[in-house]
Amino acid sequence: MLGFASRFMGPLLLVVVAVTAAAAPSEVHHRQRRIAVIGGGISGTFVTKYLAEYDNNAIKNSCLIDEIVVFDVSLPPPGLFDSEDNNNNNVEVEENTYIPSSSSDPRPPNWQGSRVSSITLNDGPVVELGGSIIYNGNKLVGNMMDGDPTFLQRMPPMDGDNNDDDNNNNSPRGFGIYHGNQTWLINTARLHTMLLVPSFVSSILESFTVLWRYGYDLLRMKRAVTQAVQKFDMIYVALNDTEHESTYFNSPMDIWRMMGLDVLTTVTYHDLLDRLGLYRDSTLELISNNHTAIAGGSTNGSPSSSSSNINHYWDWRKWIPGMGCLRSELLSGVSINTYNQDLNQMNGLVGLVSFVPVGNELFQVKGGNHRLMESALRQAQLSYDMSSSCSDGNNNEGYLPSSRRRINRQRGRITTVVSSKDSMELFEDNKSLGKFNIVILAAPLQQCRINFLIQSPMGLDETLLHTMPLSGIKDNVDKSEVEERSPSSSSSSMTDNEYGHHSFASSLPASATVKYTSVVTTVISNATVNKTHFGLLENDPFPRSVLVSERGKALEGITTLTILSNGLIKTFSSETLDMEKRNILFGQYHIVEYEQIWGGGGEYGQYGGATPSFDGGRNSESLPFLLYDGAKHWGQSDGPALYYVNAIESAVAAIEISAIGAKATSKLVARRLGLIIPNINSHDEL
Ligand SMILES: Cc1cc2nc3c(=O)[nH]c(=O)nc-3n(C[C@H](O)[C@H](O)[C@H](O)COP(=O)(O)OP(=O)(O)OC[C@H]3O[C@@H](n4cnc5c(N)ncnc54)[C@H](O)[C@@H]3O)c2cc1C
Repeated sequence: MLGFASRFMGPLLLVVVAVTAAAAPSEVHHRQRRIAVIGGGISGTFVTKYLAEYDNNAIKNSCLIDEIVVFDVSLPPPGLFDSEDNNNNNVEVEENTYIPSSSSDPRPPNWQGSRVSSITLNDGPVVELGGSIIYNGNKLVGNMMDGDPTFLQRMPPMDGDNNDDDNNNNSPRGFGIYHGNQTWLINTARLHTMLLVPSFVSSILESFTVLWRYGYDLLRMKRAVTQAVQKFDMIYVALNDTEHESTYFNSPMDIWRMMGLDVLTTVTYHDLLDRLGLYRDSTLELISNNHTAIAGGSTNGSPSSSSSNINHYWDWRKWIPGMGCLRSELLSGVSINTYNQDLNQMNGLVGLVSFVPVGNELFQVKGGNHRLMESALRQAQLSYDMSSSCSDGNNNEGYLPSSRRRINRQRGRITTVVSSKDSMELFEDNKSLGKFNIVILAAPLQQCRINFLIQSPMGLDETLLHTMPLSGIKDNVDKSEVEERSPSSSSSSMTDNEYGHHSFASSLPASATVKYTSVVTTVISNATVNKTHFGLLENDPFPRSVLVSERGKALEGITTLTILSNGLIKTFSSETLDMEKRNILFGQYHIVEYEQIWGGGGEYGQYGGATPSFDGGRNSESLPFLLYDGAKHWGQSDGPALYYVNAIESAVAAIEISAIGAKATSKLVARRLGLIIPNINSHDEL
C-alpha cells in the first residue's frame, strides 16, 4: 500500500517562503514533548491546564511533556509568568493607543486579544469588556474556580439584573425591552421603586409580571431549555471518562450528536420555536425584505425563516393588557444581547443556550473574569510543582517545587507554522520561536492570521513549502467530480501525483471562513441617561438592563444598555457610538472610559469579532479538532500534529463552550501522547 506521502505528491499550492530560520531556540528531544498553544484566552489556557493534569495523573509516561508554551499577541497579565525573552519579543504598541494601565489585557493595535478581558477603572470597579456572565451550571468554569478558591471568587454579575447588593440604595433595578421610538415592550423598573415593598417582594412581582406577559410560552420555553440542559450535562460525564473510545470526540458535531442535540445546530432558532409551538408576533420583527424601510435598520440580510407557521391563533394575547409575545420580545432581545443576531440568524442550539441564564443563578469572577485565564496557567504549573514524579528531584517532601517552569506564557504574534516530518516550527515574521511536537490553535482560524505550511513531503528542498491541507486531503477522485464540486473555488486545488492519482485539498467549511459578528463595547462614566429620549418622564425609574427588539436595535443602534452603577454605563452596539449619539443618550458631560471594537469595519476588522455568524445553522459544520496529522501525512507513527480548539465555536460560542472545546482537544492530545489510553475491551456505551 502506498504511503500517504507518496500519494500526496502534487503541490496543493506551492509556496516558497522566505523563512530563513536561524537555529531554532530549542530543539525537540527524543520523547520529550514540547507543546505550543497559540492563543492565551479561555481555550488556550484551559487546554494547558487539562494537559498538565493528564501529564501528572498519567500512570505511565508521566511528565512526558517537557514544556507547554502559550503564545499570545497580548502581554501576560501582570504577575503571571512571563518568559525571559518577552522583552525582546514585543509586538510594537503604538504610542497614543489608549490602554488603561489597569487593563488586564493590553492589546496591541489591530489585535482584539482575548474575548474575556476586564478593565479596572480608576475609582475601583472592574468592568468586563467581553465575556461577562457565567451561568452557575457551567461545570468546567466552576471546577476552575474550585481549583483555586483563594484566587478565584464568585460574585453576582455587575452586568446582570440579579445583583442584590444594592437593594438598599437607589441603584436602578429591573429590566426592559426597548422597541425604539420611545416605546417599551416591557419595563419592570417601576416595580422595584414601590415604597414600602421589600426587594424580595419586588423581585416576586417582577417574576409574576413576566409570567403574566408571556404565559404558557414561558413555561414551554423553560421546559425545552431544561431538557436541553439535561442532555447537555452528559458532556461532563463523557469528558471525564477516559476509558471509553466513544468519549474521544473528533469534532464538535460528535459532541452534539452524543447529547442528541445535533439536529438543533442545523435549524434556525425560529424553526425550533415553531416546533415548540411558541406564538410569534411578526409585527414586532423586521423581516429581511422590508428592513430597509427603517432608517439604519439591518438584519444583515439573512433570509427569513422558511417556516410559514406563524401562529395567528394566539394573536388575541396582544389585546389583553400586560400580555405580549415571548418569542418576538424576550427571546429576540436576549439573542440580540448575547450574539447580536436575530432569530433567523441564530441556530436552534445557540438559541436555547442563550436562554439558559435567564432566571438562573449567574456569576462573575471577583477582580475580573480574566483571572480565570491566569488561574488556569497557575494551576497547570502547580500540577507539576505538586507532583512527586514530575518535579526535578530536588526535593522529596510534600510540596515539591519544580526546579524549572514547564508552563510558560510568552508574548508572540505567530505568523507562520511550518510542519516538517518531525516537528512544527513557529515563526513571528521570519524569527523562529521554536520547534514543537504538537501545536494547538486556540484562536478562531479566521482571526489568527497564520500561514500554515508544510515542507515538501519529498523532502528534497526544505524551503519549498505547501499550504497545509487543514481540511484534509481527498484523493483518488475523478477530476470531473472535483470540477463539479467547486468549479472556481480557490481553496480547493486539484493535483495529480506521480502515480496519476488525483488529490485535492478539501475546501474549508463555512464555519472556518465566515465572519464573526461585530460588537462594540463602550464603557461610559458620568452619564445621565436621557429618559425623555426613551419615552420616560424625568421621575420615572430607568431599568438596570435594557435589551432591544429588532426594531429597537435598528432605530437606536445599540444592542444592550446596562447601568453598572450610578453614572456608569456599558453598552453593546454593532458600530461605534459617535459623539452626537452619545450626547443624546447620556448627556454632554459623559466620559468614554473605554471602547473595545470586536470586529467591525476598518482594515483589520475582518480579523476580529465576538461570535461566529451562525447563519441559521448553515455554518454549523465544523472542522475536526485534529486539523493536521503529520504522522499520517508522512506515513510514520510519530509525527507532529496541529489541533484546533475553536472548531467548537461553529454552532455555539460562550466561555463554557470554549472550556468544553479545550477539554475535548486535550483528551485527544493526551491520548496521542499515551498519557491516557482508552480500554479497547470496554465496549460499554456510556
Ligand atoms: C462582547 C462579548 C460579550 C460576550 N459575552 C459573553 C458572556 O456573557 N458569557 C459567555 O459565556 N461568553 C461571552 N462571550 C463569548 C466568550 O467571550 C468567548 O466565547 C470566549 O471568550 C472565547 O475564548 P477563546 O479563548 O476561544 O478565544 P479568544 O478569547 O478570542 O482568544 C484567542 C486568543 O488568541 C490570541 N491570538 C490570535 N491569533 C494569534 C496569533 N497569531 N498569535 C498569537 N496569539 C494569537 C488572541 O490575542 C486571543 O487572546 C462574549 C464575547 C464578546 C466579544
